[in-house]
Amino acid sequence: MPLSPLHIETPLLRTAADYSASGLPLWLKLDALQPSGSFKLRGVGLLCQHEVAKGAREIFCASGGNAGIAAAVAGKALGVPVTIVVPETTSPEVRTRIAATGASVLVHGSVFDEANAHAVALAAERKAAYVHPYDHPLLWEGHATLIDEVVKAGAEFDCVVTSVGGGGLLAGIVEGLRRNGLRDIPVMAVETEGAASLNAAVAAKERVTLPAITSIAVSLGARQVAQHVFDLLETHPIESVTVTDAEAVAACLKFADAHRVLVEPACGAALAVADVHADRLSRYKAPLIEVCGGIGVSLAALEAWRARFL
Ligand SMILES: *Cc1c(COP(=O)(O)O)cnc(C)c1O
Repeated sequence: MPLSPLHIETPLLRTAADYSASGLPLWLKLDALQPSGSFKLRGVGLLCQHEVAKGAREIFCASGGNAGIAAAVAGKALGVPVTIVVPETTSPEVRTRIAATGASVLVHGSVFDEANAHAVALAAERKAAYVHPYDHPLLWEGHATLIDEVVKAGAEFDCVVTSVGGGGLLAGIVEGLRRNGLRDIPVMAVETEGAASLNAAVAAKERVTLPAITSIAVSLGARQVAQHVFDLLETHPIESVTVTDAEAVAACLKFADAHRVLVEPACGAALAVADVHADRLSRYKAPLIEVCGGIGVSLAALEAWRARFL
């Protein structure tokens, strides 16, 4: 018996053609409305369910925010304690939001890699399950449900636009396309300058590690993409593009005004493509944009970014 999912089926909207410079009506998949505030509950929820079904009595996850709160929401639904290890860079607001779910929040290290190493060690020591934020086949399988939903809704689309951090979401989208017989549909993979580890890997033709993350889109701040994601460049049509932080913020503001929903700059990056890379997008007829969401945003944060960038 398949486990019933912890994520919800999210709305799919269609914009007017004049919504963006692309001149195309856009399909928007509103994963910002997941109970965890982002798509991450899809994969993290599935992974946590499997771990608990295998006997895990405790869950550890390292995260800058959205994977952590997804693990916290999943753990709560499954009735197991969850500990989220966040780096010092995770804002007090995000720490508070994660803690509000009942999860323990530990602050460790100045960057994600340090927080992650600590979470791995703690999980091993306590014989608990460890949940990676983007590098696990069950995460990709869970994220793939977003494509299942769009297909089930009967929406016809001919390209998918998504943000990329470590690449778990991208891998899930490719998995979803494949399992729905849509392996020819290309994916536009979007990063912000300063967090563009996939873009750097495409240019170098090998996986590279960025020296630092300098973008405000912290949810895209994986210094290196997963090996599986790098390998997908060979087997799926994937186009890597970048936008600036300012462009990502502008897209968040435009989206908030149009749809009355706040999303992180990490998500604004994907939304920005319809204006910033309108020429590339207009090679297609019906793009689908994954509105991945994120909890690292507030009215105050958006105002501050507006003041800084626009
Ligand atoms: C995690 C996350 C991403 C990036 O996902 P990856 O699987 O790391 O590529 C993008 N946007 C938001 C809001 C996220 O939480």
